[in-house]
Amino acid sequence: MLEILRRIVQEVNGARSLDAALSIIVRRIRKAMQTDVCSVYLRDDERDCFILMDTIGLNASAIGQVTLKPGEGLVGLVGQREEPLNIEEAPSHSHFRYFAETGEERYSSFLGVPIIHQRRVLGVLVVQQREKRQFGEGEEAFLITMAAQLAGVLVHALSTGALARLSDTGTQALLNGIAAAPGMAIGEAFVVVPSANLEAVPERVPDDIEAEVIRLREAIDCVRHDIRQAAERLASRISAQEQALFDVYQQMLGDAALGNEVEKRIREGQWAPYALSRVVQRHVNYLERVDDNYLRERAADIRDLGRRVLAHLQKDSNARKPVYPERTILVGDEISAAQLGEIPREKLAGLVALRGSSTSHVAILARAMGIPAVMGMNDLPISRLAGTPMIVDGYRGRLILRPQPDLLVRYESMIEEEEALTSMLESEQSLPSETSDGFRIRLMINTGLAVEMSGSPAARIDGVGLYRTEVPFMMHQRFPSEKEQTRIYREQLQGFAPLPVVMRTLDIGGDKSLPYFPIEEDNPFLGWRGIRVTLDHPEVLMVQLRAMLRAAEGLDNLRILLPMITSVEEVDTVSRLLDRAIQEMRDDGVQIERPLLGVMLEVPAVIYQLEALASRVDFFSVGSNDLIQYLLAVDRNNARVSGLYDACQPAVLRALDYIARESRRLNISASVCGELAGDPIGALLLMGMGYRVLSMNAPNLSRVRAAIRRVSMEGAQGLVSDVLALHSLTETRELVYQRMKEWELAHLLPPRD
Ligand code: PEP
Ligand code: MG
Repeated sequence: MLEILRRIVQEVNGARSLDAALSIIVRRIRKAMQTDVCSVYLRDDERDCFILMDTIGLNASAIGQVTLKPGEGLVGLVGQREEPLNIEEAPSHSHFRYFAETGEERYSSFLGVPIIHQRRVLGVLVVQQREKRQFGEGEEAFLITMAAQLAGVLVHALSTGALARLSDTGTQALLNGIAAAPGMAIGEAFVVVPSANLEAVPERVPDDIEAEVIRLREAIDCVRHDIRQAAERLASRISAQEQALFDVYQQMLGDAALGNEVEKRIREGQWAPYALSRVVQRHVNYLERVDDNYLRERAADIRDLGRRVLAHLQKDSNARKPVYPERTILVGDEISAAQLGEIPREKLAGLVALRGSSTSHVAILARAMGIPAVMGMNDLPISRLAGTPMIVDGYRGRLILRPQPDLLVRYESMIEEEEALTSMLESEQSLPSETSDGFRIRLMINTGLAVEMSGSPAARIDGVGLYRTEVPFMMHQRFPSEKEQTRIYREQLQGFAPLPVVMRTLDIGGDKSLPYFPIEEDNPFLGWRGIRVTLDHPEVLMVQLRAMLRAAEGLDNLRILLPMITSVEEVDTVSRLLDRAIQEMRDDGVQIERPLLGVMLEVPAVIYQLEALASRVDFFSVGSNDLIQYLLAVDRNNARVSGLYDACQPAVLRALDYIARESRRLNISASVCGELAGDPIGALLLMGMGYRVLSMNAPNLSRVRAAIRRVSMEGAQGLVSDVLALHSLTETRELVYQRMKEWELAHLLPPRD
């Protein structure tokens, strides 16, 4: 059963259009369950009804014609109740509704289950049988499992019709994802391809067909050579039978097999990587479907060979410099910081990623750079999007492919309005960030990339509240040397001197990995992260501390911040290492004072150790991104639970308020450097709680400053006491939004529909 389930889902996943997916669903399920009928109904939100989309068993002419309101007929009842309905004699059920065009009167038994994705009913899956009997418990369980699995696969196509429309290259398609970085952009897709991923090869037309064929032949020759060598190397260690596998590989690569087919497609106008990926996919799909274990295993071999050939092709094409469109929308499965850095800033207009969410690090980078981004676009067939005109709406988490002229005009005018607001606020950038009753809030910026201040050079700031050192580490091919680090840090410290710069020690792990130091774990956010890694590698930490100290010589504006602190022992160990590094520097003749040392409050355990920590360090910095993730047990990268990640959750607000009060009592400075500080609502709440230093991405400065300048401290404190009296997220959000409206600050918030 499991195998059948897996194969159906896999096939549906590989379907090129919504119609094809639905057709596979009804045919395969009918066969697997040996029923007379299998039909799928999908919900049409606009018309508020379920439409028969495909069937095998009922009259085909009924497809698209039969519609049922929620609660109407058996299908409508399943959709409304959101639970299965298993009946022996459907026509005598009180809800049965007869549609002459279906010919359904012949069928007696009925089993319908809802297709539900993230609490939303997407449709109903139905099987029917002539004979009068109740479907068995096992059959019902099978259909429920099937529907639950298919929901994930179908959701995208169902909500947008995207799969169908994407193959129809002329039509506009609107897709919803997660709003990851604010702003709107109009541009053209540039698809970034992870190396040797057959599923993610973009479709392109080759400039020179003969050259493309030669490129393919050379790549195949290289793989043949690699395989021959591998076979020779292993000759003494494997059996003759296993040796024979290498011969099979050679045959598969032969002219009569893969090579020929791929060449044919190239001659029809596809570039080699795409032609290869299609041919491999076709063979794999076929082999995975056959009922023969031996042949099914060959599917894996073909895929492996395909990847090897692709890797050679990509080596070659990577050598050619990519040509980025003037307004590039970077589209990828997962986009890394390094990939972001490769595109000239003036050409980068937007970003779309299949994975990730608003708190992924790449989203943070996008926000730091002021690039609108939409993420969590599961199931977007990126391979077919190269060169597609699109709009990225980073406020609403929306992607519009091939926008029609009227929508383009609308977005153009919204972008213009936004630019007008930005330049209006820009004129306030040199004014103090002071409340209307005279309280000053220090605004600092988060850095790590060279571009941070490029957007607002005149902004008045109080320094750098968070310099993420892992970003320069990500741009290297190995750990940067002490000298290289010293140069990078010096640039940063000098660039902002005499203002303070808070440098955080390397915070890798979680979703931030270094290409040359991969960390693979089942649960990376609960694993080897931040200070845990660098304490296990004191040689890396010592080099970093020494580089920071040396870079600060004569400037004295360095502060050091430790990420992911969980216990006082960790602080004591780093503190000892820091003393040693200072001593080593002084021995080298470097004149340096001990910099202020701080810890990030981002692991909930530290909330209960504030006093012990305060006696060991000079300042606290709240990492709200991680603190929220750990308090709520919501992975900051997981699109499925991103709706649960919310700073306005009462538990989060109470924790933040408690930290502010305790820090005051302990007489230690506490700032906030997570994304919350850069959100106008977040900033006002934090200010009302008592935080006086907020560090954010530079593009957020103007809106936060505008909010602070238009509200009194008394007002912000009043808001905090009102929200702390509430117990639900909905009430809290509503109250905050109303208050923003009363303060005439709603224009600073993301546009709502
Ligand atoms: C945080 O967790 O809030 C933070 C600022 O650090 P990062 O986002 O780099 O994990
Ligand atoms: Mg963090």
